[in-house]
Order: sequence, then C-alpha cells, then structure tokens
Amino acid sequence: MIEIDGNRLIGRLDTFAAIGATQKGGVNRQALTEGDRRARRLLAELAWTRGFSVLQDPMANLFIRRAGHDESLPPLLIGSHLDSQPAGGRFDGALGTLSAFEVLESLEDARIETERAVMVVAWTNEEGCRFAPGCMGSMAFAAGEIPPEWQKKLATDGAPFAGELAKTIESLPGATVIPLGFPVHAYLEVHIEQGPSLEANDIPIGVVGGIQGTRWLDVIVTGQTAHAGTTGQAYRRDPLRALTAALSSLYEAIMPSDPDARFTIGRVSVEPGSVNAIPDEARCTVDIRHPDPGRLDELEKQVTSTIAKESDLQRCTVAISRSFDMPPCTFSTDLQNMIERAAADRGFRSTRMLSGAFHDALFVNRVAPASMIFVPCRDGLSHNEAEFVEPGHAVAGCEVLAQATVLLAKEADVERVHQAD
Ligand SMILES: [Zn+2]
Repeated sequence: MIEIDGNRLIGRLDTFAAIGATQKGGVNRQALTEGDRRARRLLAELAWTRGFSVLQDPMANLFIRRAGHDESLPPLLIGSHLDSQPAGGRFDGALGTLSAFEVLESLEDARIETERAVMVVAWTNEEGCRFAPGCMGSMAFAAGEIPPEWQKKLATDGAPFAGELAKTIESLPGATVIPLGFPVHAYLEVHIEQGPSLEANDIPIGVVGGIQGTRWLDVIVTGQTAHAGTTGQAYRRDPLRALTAALSSLYEAIMPSDPDARFTIGRVSVEPGSVNAIPDEARCTVDIRHPDPGRLDELEKQVTSTIAKESDLQRCTVAISRSFDMPPCTFSTDLQNMIERAAADRGFRSTRMLSGAFHDALFVNRVAPASMIFVPCRDGLSHNEAEFVEPGHAVAGCEVLAQATVLLAKEADVERVHQAD
C-alpha cells in the first residue's frame, strides 16, 4: 500500500492556484500565456528537485518521468492539464496534474521500484478558450502530428498560436525535447466531475466508463416574410412557427424518454427580425449528446424529421447541416475494473459513470487504454471561480490514482490483458 502525502497535495494546489489567481478566488491561467508558462516552470522545478527527468514535445505537452526497472517497457502515463478558463476554478486540470505528481513523489519517498516508468503529463490547451479547439495537446499527441492549419491560429486576444507555442517551449530550456507521440502502456486521469451526481449521492470516487458523443447541427427554416397585420393564417409561411412547434415536441420527446440523452438549443435567431413582419428565416443550433453512437444517429434523425415535418405543415423549407461530430468514446474495461479495485482497496465507495464533458483522456484513448477517476465538486460547479473540492475528496482521488498506478506499473500481466481486449 503506497502512502501519499495529502497535506503536500493540498499545499501544492494552493501554490499553483496563486499563479493567475483572480479576485474571486479562481484562476485565470489560459493556455500558452505567461501564467501557463509559470505553472509549467514550477512543476518542472519541483520535478528536477526530486531527480525526475523533464521532457516536452513540439506541442509543449510537458512530461515528468520517473524511471522504471525495465526501461524498454512503454511508460504508464498519469496526469491532466494546467491551463484554465478565463474565470476558471482552482481544481479543473490542476487537481489531476498535481495528484499525478504527488503519486510520483510518493513512489520516490517510499523508494518503490516500478516495473515500467511512470510519467506525469500536463497536456497543452485542454480548455480551448484562448485557442480553439480544446485538447489540442492530447489530440496532436494521439495523431502524432500537429495539423499544419493550427500554425495560423490566432488567440481570442490576437496572439499568434505559433509564436505563443514557441515561447512556451523556449521558457523551459532545461527540458529535453522529444518527438510528438510515443507508446503508452495506459493512461489515467484524475479530474473533478464538473457535474452534481457524485456529491448528490455522497460517493467520493467516480470510475469513468467513457465520454458521451456530441453532435452539433445548424438548422435554417425558410418561409416568406409578410405583413403581420394583413396576412391571414392561410397565407402565412412562418418559419418560426414551424421551428418552435418542432422544438417543443423534441423537448417533450427526447430527454424525458431517455435519461442518457441531452438535447440543447443554445442559439435561436430570426430574419429580418422586425416587430411587425412574419420572419422569412428562423435559425437555431442543436447540441445532442449520447453515450451510444447508434442512439446519437437516431436522435439526429428524430430532430431532422421533426423539423422537416413541421416545416412542411407551414409550407416552409428546411436545411440542416452538421457543424461538429465527436463520437462517444468507451474507456478500457480493464482499467475501470482496476480503478474500482483500487478504490475498494483504499476503502472508498465508487460508482461507474460517464463523463458529460470532453477530456484529454478521450484522445489518449485512441492510442492507449485510458480511463478517468472523478471526484465530487461542490454543487457540481466548474468553469467557475467558485469551483470547490473538499480536501478529503482531493486526497481520495489521489490515493486511488496512487493505488492504481502501483497495480499498473508493477503488474506484468496487464499487458497481456490489454492485448486480449
Ligand atoms: Zn479540465
């Protein structure tokens, strides 16, 4: 049983929260800013103090490596991200990264020799708020290349991506530069749930089975603009009437009948937008989510056909296009079992769950078995300066990660289990 130092972890969370600290107790440490660079430097310095090696790849993904007994084996990777939202919380990303580092230090403290190397990672730009999309670091790592079009990206504040990336890499001259992507034995990430279910059920550990799929649609219903006063019912071709009728029946149909489904209309607009004219165009965005890819297809068909039917009734035409499609991901069953066992070994109750949000683990899962350990956050609040994790829950997540790390980095059998997967 490996002992972690809970006080050291909580202290580290405070220290890192001071980098980019906001007035309201949150953090503004957006990707590839000076704050992000300071946090990376601090982690690297802590690593050097302990004699670990520090590496970075061309995406500025930062790795801290503790050697294993057999250096020919692919390392176990554990970690998360250090960047934040502009008005972000202290735990989103930092908890997973610092928990992973605490595990590495605890292994060192206890002089535990692992069969394979254990590496901590801080992925670049998980949040995607300063440069879109999110998870650029893990996405490029999994793809083994940086998409050329990224070089031309500009930040929301106008800064060029290529320049900010280069500056970030240069700010850690002592780190060994390695190529993008390498074989990984398995990947584990501790993260706050960013939702209310663990807290509501008073369960400290969530074993994450996967990340639900997301699909975005752009809907345009076209009718005919006409005078609001002179145009009787029979003469109207009102696209907003068609769209509102369709959405209202979709609200009634989708989520009430399927607890795993998510259906959200985030943006609605009409043209020409005049108080006394029937609109000629009604637009909306649709965000549908589901863990089952088949159901995601069905939901898209249901949305499309319902809007088409109502548009027909109003003698309107409809055009629907997909603007985003992220298939669901399913995490390794072996890793889930292992996390569950690790939680039980430590005396924590756990539950299997899905993640509603994206994470770097989704991308790493494309090249190595991955899973996540969720801990509760107060009121399910995240991407908010008031984000809060009970110290006991932060320590619990780290203990489970430590336990799973020892199982994974030591057990030679795991490899064969994965191959049979
Ligand atoms: Zn995060």
